[in-house]
Amino acid sequence: MKKREPNYYQIRKCVFWWMIGVFISLIGVVYFKEDLRDWWICSRGKEIVTFEGMESELENKEDCFLCGHSSQSLKERFGTFDGVGVISLNDWYVLEFPWKGFGREDPEDTGDWNLSTTFGNTGEIIYCSKCNSIRGMASIDITLPGDYGLNPTIIQNNLCQECLDRIGKSLQYNKWKNEKKEVVPLCLVDLKTLEIYSLQDWHRGCAIRDYWIEIEPEKEKMRIELFSLPTVDMG
Ligand SMILES: [Zn+2]
Repeated sequence: MKKREPNYYQIRKCVFWWMIGVFISLIGVVYFKEDLRDWWICSRGKEIVTFEGMESELENKEDCFLCGHSSQSLKERFGTFDGVGVISLNDWYVLEFPWKGFGREDPEDTGDWNLSTTFGNTGEIIYCSKCNSIRGMASIDITLPGDYGLNPTIIQNNLCQECLDRIGKSLQYNKWKNEKKEVVPLCLVDLKTLEIYSLQDWHRGCAIRDYWIEIEPEKEKMRIELFSLPTVDMG
């Protein structure tokens, strides 16, 4: 029986070490993929995205959705309503915090969140608002679509320049230059004074009159909580 001779490849020494080098680099890339991605995102530094150059297309200031007298106007709809709301800017949908005041005497209200929960889908956002009057808090959970961003048509067509500037200012946010990050098309509004507050991811809380607001953004989801600060009677 004839014994088989083993086969050998003959390659140049430099090619061999080059191949070893490539192999180790590939393992490195696979292993440190996330770190390399983070490094690449941060490599060109940060930038500030602003919306202050938006121009109003509204002809008559009286028709402004915020300060005017149209049927969509917050001033007409909420008047001197003593509440806080969230505006979905792409469809001008206004969500009020379902705050009903402290210690409401409701036989069914056991302080359970589930008893006063409202769900909805505006076509732009999905929301769920809850109230717990015994603990003095209310919350709104919002889910934005996966490819969210601002469509400025409604606000440019229906806000006066002054209100558009105020909304534009609230939309400012920071991002890494290489990062794909869009503006959150929402803002917070004091329905009594029509003051606008940011809901971008850098903003985590603020006081609005007798309320304390906490904001927890998480990718396309956001939870906004309202705590009513009881007025202390010093007399
Ligand atoms: Zn206005």
